[in-house]
This record gives sequence, structure tokens and C-alpha cells, in this order.
Amino acid sequence: MKAVSLHVTGVVQGVGFRPFVYNLARSLGVRGWVRNTSEGVFCLAEGEQETLDEFVRRIRDDAPPMAVVEAVFAEEVDPEGHDEFAIASSAAAPDAMTLVSPDIATCAACEAELGDPEDRRYRYPFINCTNCGPRFTIIGDVPYDRPMTSMRDFPMCPECAAEYADPADRRFHAQPDACFVCGPRLYLNTPDVPAEWQWAPDRETTPRPHRDREAERERSDAILARTAELLRDGAVVAVKGLGGFQLACDATNEAAVATLRERKRRWGKPLAVMVPSVDAARAFCHVSDAEEALLAGAQRPIVLLRLRERHATLAPSVAPGLAELGVMLPYTPLHRLLLEAAGRPLVMTSGNLSEEPIAMENAEAIDRLAAIADAFLLHDRGILSRYDDSVTRIVAGTEAPVRRARGFAPFPLRLPFVSDIHILAAGPEQKNTFTLVRDDYAFVSQHIGDMENAETLEHFETTRALYERLFRVRPELVAYDLHPEYLSTKLALDLGLPTVGVQHHHAHIASVTAEHGVAETVIGVAFDGTGYGTDGHIWGGEVLLGDWTSFERFAHLAELPLPGGAAAIRRPARMALGALEATGLLEHPGAAPLRSRLAEGEESTLRAMIAQGINTPPTSSAGRLFDAVAALAGVRDDALYEGQAAIELEALADPMAEGAYAFGYTEGAPGVIESAPVLEAVLDDIAAGVPVSVISARFHRAVGAAIVDACTRARERTGVRNVALAGGVFMNRLVCEGAVRGLAETDMRPLTHIRLPANDGGVSFGQAVIAWARRHEV
Ligand SMILES: [Zn+2]
Ligand SMILES: [Zn+2]
Ligand SMILES: [Zn+2]
Repeated sequence: MKAVSLHVTGVVQGVGFRPFVYNLARSLGVRGWVRNTSEGVFCLAEGEQETLDEFVRRIRDDAPPMAVVEAVFAEEVDPEGHDEFAIASSAAAPDAMTLVSPDIATCAACEAELGDPEDRRYRYPFINCTNCGPRFTIIGDVPYDRPMTSMRDFPMCPECAAEYADPADRRFHAQPDACFVCGPRLYLNTPDVPAEWQWAPDRETTPRPHRDREAERERSDAILARTAELLRDGAVVAVKGLGGFQLACDATNEAAVATLRERKRRWGKPLAVMVPSVDAARAFCHVSDAEEALLAGAQRPIVLLRLRERHATLAPSVAPGLAELGVMLPYTPLHRLLLEAAGRPLVMTSGNLSEEPIAMENAEAIDRLAAIADAFLLHDRGILSRYDDSVTRIVAGTEAPVRRARGFAPFPLRLPFVSDIHILAAGPEQKNTFTLVRDDYAFVSQHIGDMENAETLEHFETTRALYERLFRVRPELVAYDLHPEYLSTKLALDLGLPTVGVQHHHAHIASVTAEHGVAETVIGVAFDGTGYGTDGHIWGGEVLLGDWTSFERFAHLAELPLPGGAAAIRRPARMALGALEATGLLEHPGAAPLRSRLAEGEESTLRAMIAQGINTPPTSSAGRLFDAVAALAGVRDDALYEGQAAIELEALADPMAEGAYAFGYTEGAPGVIESAPVLEAVLDDIAAGVPVSVISARFHRAVGAAIVDACTRARERTGVRNVALAGGVFMNRLVCEGAVRGLAETDMRPLTHIRLPANDGGVSFGQAVIAWARRHEV
């Protein structure tokens, strides 16, 4: 007889870990105990050596789906001589940190109960267990116990309470445990439905009675049926989901989708579609094995899939002019039931006006979404943190996240160092996230949004307060973007704490290298839309040489004028004219189509602005070069959102087309990647009537080759082989795959983001790492 003491760390609380250990021990005949503490789960196991080996192995390998086992420390100890296995009471230290699980999609066992007429939770829209359901969105503070969650308003009925107390039950200590009798319920606010279906503010202040199960199920089903009917009739329905509201409509009904876009003021940007199964997704899109694993995984993100050339009936304005469609599977029982009732794919987009944060509370949604939604499908379980759907995709064979929120945050990234101070990194302006650092954890917040209005700023501040409370972080050092006008910068400087200013593209590169644990000097290629440079210019086509402490600007794209600043981002035609003017190509015959499309007097105004430098900053932005080429090639003159022209240019590329353009390169400190030869070749092709699909392919290849060329030069000078790729331009599949392939072929080692987005959503993590590396300078 032997005994072993185990210490398990990671996300092991509130995820069914103790019942898992308990049931495993019982099944193997192991004796001893298991206990939660502030530092993780501790366990004493007694039995034969072979049995104990099996026990330890299965704790590591068979942990419940929501658990993340970071380490299992095992140590042989003297047996205590237990007769059975028991769950011992928790031991908590007040200031210790526990990790909090993200919200996880409905598990297979709950899905089965949802569809089982014999089950008491048959068709209950809020079914969950220790393996699935809401976590982060219902937690107000730790320890993770029911009184600290928004479930405190729902006293359990005797049946739920019995499950909750039974270590052998799948719902042992499942804090959101509930049923028709005692739990949250649906409401439907729309004209012509019974008053009893409608939610009113006092519903959330009066105590909830225990109800009759069959009557509740009937009411719930009637609400779902009526909602489905509205959707089939073309209505826009605001649906209260897991981390906020979504706007739903029939994805096969063009009028409904067009109405949703018009009312939400979301033009151009693709809308995500929810389908019941992977097979249903295949009706519209190609789905690889890796993509299927993401679609159906426990996080259930929106996965960007390549649209089929000919696809089943989908309204054209769901993804106009795009090569990819965002697709997701139902991740809550409510979504599952709603999709079944509607019997067709549904558009599911964030419940907000463009640029505002997603609505979270019932009253707030009814107020803010009044002009968008025809009906509100509500429930009375409180949401304590706004939590958008995550977006991801597969690029160059690996996952490349686009937006990190539901299912991922607030699970931290592990740092390749242990920080002796607590750090806040405030992030950039667009696609903002913030990062909090303590010990060797980096808590990268869920997607906050574009920090351009008071609502988003408030979302930032409430989320930051929640993270600091949950993870016991008190920042002592603050990192901020060098752009003096960013709201996140102003906020960081107003905190009255020591600060570190971090250049935008340096942060992009450090974010990639820290994700890969690479501390030494790398070549960093940061291609994006906009970032404030150390010279006060707008950067965005940068090849840097540096580590976490400092960097050198090795090379950059040639600067082009940005006539009108932000106005040129909204009108790529301006950017194109600026590029022609700057490179002396205005009189090229290939420029004629663009010039003929400009408004009366526009050309002379722009040329005067450029000549006199009026509101025309120079920029090395790669994103703007893509805009210029897209406008020249006739893809689009005006953009409804930043990068639209570039995204459509990518979608048009013909992979079978031959040839490539070539950038020039001028040595110097820094070197310059010359775009004039590419622009001239584009104009030659336009003049020769070459189709845009060929021009696009040739241009994309030239960008990939220019990246490889600049990196080769940097390597020849320094011997550095690691190349970090980041910035929004690497969302472009052709550029990313071209650069990764080209670098690998020339014996360099490309590093890309795997857990964070390559766009500005990854910047705060890099800021935090640089602030840590430079902490002694402050
Ligand atoms: Zn479950
Ligand atoms: Zn109950
Ligand atoms: Zn950026």
C-alpha cells in the first residue's frame, strides 16, 4: 500500500474537478480525500502502486472539459490509512488568486437532456452543468460561489439543491444550476403578446417564486414558437444571450438582412450566421478538419470559412463582395432551441449600434436597440460582464484569432517570466483590449472595442475594475500607446502611476514573441493601418529589429501622402490620387480610369492639399497602400469601414494567375521599401486591360516577396533568423501565407500569433511585456 499527495493547478475550480477526482477515485478503489484551496486542488490518494499511477495519469488526461490542468505535482508520502474517498471542505486564503473559467458551450450530456422528453429539464433554455454553461459572465467576485454570482437571485428548488449537494452528480456545486421550477425564464417583449410574457423592470426586483414545471415549459415553448414565427416573417429580434444582446434575423431573407444592416448602420462589414450543425455550415462554406474542430469545440467561436462558389440560399447582403463567411454553432441551449424553432440559418450579430459596445441589460437593450429590433427575446439571469462572440480562422495551417472574447477570456496567457510587479497595459484605440500582469500571468481582457466614445470607455473601466477585483491585481506600472490623442493613452496617463510609453508596432512585435517565449532580438514585420511613430509620423509598414526593451527601425514602406487624414481612410480614391502624385505617375494612361471617376474639382483640391502639405500627413502604412491599389484597380473608391477596399481586393485575387510585381529597395538607416515600381506595374496592367483578379494576385505576391526581401537583408546584417509577423494586414490570408511560406523557404523562422489576434486586439499584451522589460527605467 502506497500514498501519493497531489497538487493540481490551473482552472480546476467551478469546473467539476472535485467530483471528477471523487468519481475517478471511487471507480479505481483509491482511498483518501480531495480539497479545494486558494492555490488549486490538493488530493491524497492511497492504494496499490499501479492503481495510483493510473489515477495520476487519468487526472492529467481525462480532466473535465472546462478544466485546464496546468500542472500536476505528485509526491510520495506516508499513508494516512483512509477507509474511503471523500471531498474535504475548502480551505481559502483571502488574497490568493484563483483562475476563472470562461463561459463554455452546452456539453453533449446537457444537449441530450435538452432533447429528452423524460428529463425534467426537457427544453429548458438555461440547462447547464459543471462541464458547461456561463461562468465569467455571471461572476461578480471570487470565491466562485452562488452568492457571488447573478444566480444569487434564484434559490434552488429541492431537486436542484439535491443535485448541487451530491458529489456523484454532474451538477455538484454547479453555480448556475437551475430548472423550469426555480431558475431563469424567457420573456418576449413585442406588441400583441400576452402581458405575462413581457419583461418589466420590477421582474428583477421582486423575489422569484418556485413555479409549476409543465406550465413553465408550455409558456417557454410558446415564447420560442412566437419568436421563430417573427423571424420567419422577416423581423429583427434582439436576443439576450450569454454575454450581451445579439440581433437575429433570417439569413435567407434578403429584405430582413438589408433591414438589419440599415437599422444597425452596419454597411459592408460581414454578418455572422448561426447554423445548427457542421453539416449545415457545409451548405455555404468549405470546412476543413481544423475548421470543424474550431466550430464544434467547447469555445464555439465564430469561424471565418471560405464561401463556396455556389452556395445554398443565403441572402446576398450577408457577406457582400467577400470570400469568407463567419459561421458559428449554437453555444447555449437558448440558441439551440431558437434555431430549431426557426428552421433556418440565422444572422447573429452583436446587439449594438455600429461602434458602440454590445448591450447587456434588459432595460438598456430595450432603450438602445428600440430603433433596430422589432422584438426582444429576454431572460432574467443577470450578465455581469459584456462578452462578445469570439472570431477565429485557420491561416497557413494554424489558428489565427481575429477577436478574442467569449470562450477564451479571462483565461490568462502564461508569461515566459515571473513579474515582480503588477502591470496594466491600456491598449490602443481600435479593437482595444487591456492586459493586467501579475506573477507569470497576463490577463488579456475580452475584446472591448474601438475607444472612440463614452460607452466604450465605460465598458473598458468596468471591465478593468472587474479583472482587478477577480484576480487581485493592483497596478503599479502602466503602459500606454505613444499616440497622444488615444482615449486609452489619456486614461493611462491620468491614473497617476508610473508609466511606460510603448511604440505601437514595437508592441505588436513583442506580443508575438512573448506568445512564443522568444526574448532575444527578432526581425519584426508590423504591417497595419495606423500607428504613431517615434518621429510623430503615421507608421504602418515597418520592419523592426528589436527585443522587449528597445528596437531599431530597420526599414519601412515608402511614405505616401494621406490627403485629409482620416478622410483618406474612408475614401481610398484619395489615397490612390496621393500615391500617384507622390510617385509622379499621375499622367500614366493607367491612371485615367481613377481620375475620370473623381468628383468635379476633387483632383485639383487634393493636389493643392498635397503640394502645400495641408492636413496631409505622410504615412508608411501598408493598409493605405492596399487601399490605393484597390482604388486604382477599380475595386472601390469609398470604404464603409477601414480596410474594406483591401479586403475586397484580396477576395478578388485569382490564385491561378501568373506573375508578380516587385517592390524596389533603397538601402539606408532606415531602408525604404519602394512602392513606386509596384504602382507603375499596376498602372501598366490597368492600361493593358488586365483583369483585376490578376492585378490583385500579382500585388499580393509582391507584398509577400518584399517582406521576405527586407527580412533577408536584416538577417544578412545581424544573423537573426526569427521573424515575428503582426498587424492587421496579416489578417490578409494571401499576405500571411505568402510571407510565412517565403520566410520558411529562405531558412528563416516565421512567428505568428496563435492565441491573440494579429490586429490591434493583440497590442496590449505586447505593451505589458515591454513595460515589464523596461520597469527599471521608470
Ligand atoms: Zn453540461
Ligand atoms: Zn430547480
Ligand atoms: Zn496596429
